[in-house]
Amino acid sequence: MDDPSPLIGEPPALDLVNTRPAGADLLSTPDDLRAWLRLQADRFDEARAFAAADAAPGSLDAVRHVREHTARALDRVRRGGPPSADDLEALGRAQLAAPAVTELTWNGRSLLAARRRAGPPGLRPAAWLAEAAADLLADPAVTTVRECEADDCVMLFLPAHPRRRWCSAARCGNRVRVARHYRRHRPADTGRASS
Ligand SMILES: [Zn+2]
Repeated sequence: MDDPSPLIGEPPALDLVNTRPAGADLLSTPDDLRAWLRLQADRFDEARAFAAADAAPGSLDAVRHVREHTARALDRVRRGGPPSADDLEALGRAQLAAPAVTELTWNGRSLLAARRRAGPPGLRPAAWLAEAAADLLADPAVTTVRECEADDCVMLFLPAHPRRRWCSAARCGNRVRVARHYRRHRPADTGRASS
């Protein structure tokens, strides 16, 4: 990939799987994970809380573990096939390690609801992502998850519009258009020129 920054904007479980573009791993270090959670902080309250906290030991391993099982289950389920029991169990275990409750408080006029996650802080980001993966896998729309059409791109997306072709129009859409234009307009002998 030309641009190794993570793509954000799909459901969190897809964003997670998409941290492994072709030939790269964007969640290699605890700092990578913290940066990724910060990118998600505007979209998800839980991510904001994780990004604000110091990454606890174990976070990265647990998140990578969830990513691996999510990617495998998703690969089967989005094509209409059965996921392996091993992958589903792993996603369940990750959630049980740090389960969440919806906590209600009365502010004097109305009820406020907030998700509060128990369990070791180091396992909470993975539990949140495993829950997001379960939501996505169980959603009938999961069979519409598609891979980007650019040859060298393996990013997945959930198309809101059936004609969407790229993980990102700015990234792959543009890149493929430029490459096509270049091929069409290149003089025939350019390939032989030494430079
Ligand atoms: Zn792409």
